[in-house]
Amino acid sequence: MQIFHSISAIQNHLKSLVRQGKTVGFVPTMGALHAGHLALVETAKTNNDIAVCSIFVNPTQFNNAHDLAVYPRTLESDAQLLETVNCDFIFAPNAEEMYPDLPNLKFDFGDLERVMEGEFRPGHFNGVGIVVAKLFHIIKPDRAYFGQKDLQQCAVVRRLIHDLSFDLELIICPTHRETDGLAMSSRNRNLTEEQRNLAPNLYKTMNLAKEKLLAGESVQVVKMFVQKTLSDIQGIDLEYFELSNLDNLKPINEYISGKTAFCIAAFLGKTRLIDNLIF
Ligand code: AMP
Repeated sequence: MQIFHSISAIQNHLKSLVRQGKTVGFVPTMGALHAGHLALVETAKTNNDIAVCSIFVNPTQFNNAHDLAVYPRTLESDAQLLETVNCDFIFAPNAEEMYPDLPNLKFDFGDLERVMEGEFRPGHFNGVGIVVAKLFHIIKPDRAYFGQKDLQQCAVVRRLIHDLSFDLELIICPTHRETDGLAMSSRNRNLTEEQRNLAPNLYKTMNLAKEKLLAGESVQVVKMFVQKTLSDIQGIDLEYFELSNLDNLKPINEYISGKTAFCIAAFLGKTRLIDNLIF
């Protein structure tokens, strides 16, 4: 496995491999890797000749200075983990390499910007759009692997690929969870022991809400159930719980079989976690 920090170095290296007919699977990450990330890389390696993982804490997608400051940066241990899944190349640029000048370019993903992560993290998807577009241009993958954990990001990236005619296949992989149901996240490292013990309540409550919805309760009642259940837990501060149409992530007022997504965001102290459930 090789680590590249410069854009031109990895581009030149990949160019010669692609000329030999090799296919490239790409997993963009912000590092502090866990089993969820590694599963994406394993899938990329299984389906392509070469697996590339980028590690870049992208400043332009953070709308909260504290979140950016405390985001874990663990390149050395990330590299060790990536060796275990036979990753071929890590692309780990610094901010100057990626943004010698901050782009004035602005992406607006329309309705996707107005709900959930778009609504509560203004500018977030503009930053995601810019970095993902740049990374796609640099790596030129045949396939790109993203996690369902960031459901709205998947929708944004799908739109980006479509609107800008990127010649690649988008593969969405399932959410990896801890044994107690908590969705794996780099931000889990920032939880105190007490917060870590509370965090599985997000997934647990969504599952209870799912049972209620499938038993015929209305969307209104189910939403109130989630709000009440979580507001009764001291230490969890719910930001949103939304029922969305999986096709376009617009809010829905009734259950659509196979196309309903529960999406949730909550603060545990200063750490913000998101999760979702599709059914
Ligand atoms: P991140 O570095 O956390 O921004 O995530 C990099 C990629 O890994 C994104 O496509 C995420 O959706 C994906 N990812 C993060 N957490 C998980 C998880 N628990 N299961 C599966 N994929 C994940």
